[in-house]
Amino acid sequence: MSWIYEKWGDLLKAAGAFLRDTVYPEGAVCTGCGKISDGRPLCPDCRKQLAEDGASFAWSFTEPEPGLPAYSLRPHEGLSRTLVLKLKHQGEACLAKEMAETVLPLPAWLSFSPETVVTWVPMPKARLRVRGIDHGRLLAEAVAKQLSLPCRQLLNRTNDRSRAQAALDRAGREQNLAGVFTPVGRIRVPVLLVDDVLTTGTTARRCAEALRKGGAKDITVLTFTRAVGTNRI
Ligand SMILES: [Zn+2]
Repeated sequence: MSWIYEKWGDLLKAAGAFLRDTVYPEGAVCTGCGKISDGRPLCPDCRKQLAEDGASFAWSFTEPEPGLPAYSLRPHEGLSRTLVLKLKHQGEACLAKEMAETVLPLPAWLSFSPETVVTWVPMPKARLRVRGIDHGRLLAEAVAKQLSLPCRQLLNRTNDRSRAQAALDRAGREQNLAGVFTPVGRIRVPVLLVDDVLTTGTTARRCAEALRKGGAKDITVLTFTRAVGTNRI
């Protein structure tokens, strides 16, 4: 079966996208609330809500491990959580762009040197084939554009058998991602690792470990949301 998919997958995906765009044109319906939008992925009300709600949380700081700073833009709840899930399951470049544009002026106290490279957590290839799109990459590209920084793949994913992190507890997450990431060549630049949601920080730690193996010395994590307390993923 997989060879059929290898051969025809792109064509099927294109046909699916064509049908979807015909029946359900992008931007006609708001991804946040489902109401008619003004041609953008989020309607004006949801854009306002996203810009204002949780703004006091913006740039909340934590350290998944000592020396690994992580900033998050919104708490993982309400509209922000909805958008992360929609991006994950029906990722569209324009939604990632809308999310980054709405929440991302840098605060005055934070800046990244211009040689900083933005990168993402690569998705398992099997999942990429099913979903057709790497939402992490879309978000990283949108963030990079917003911060006027270059965006490049700096990590490979070697173990396709890893399971979705959301289903596992902390110990399971650590084990699940052991040795999964490897650096793409030597890394001599500061790295900004972008991801959708920060939960236990396991993914961030595993990625940082691989980036350091590649030579990276200055790594910062930036996620769209951060799970606090009992937030569901
Ligand atoms: Zn809306």
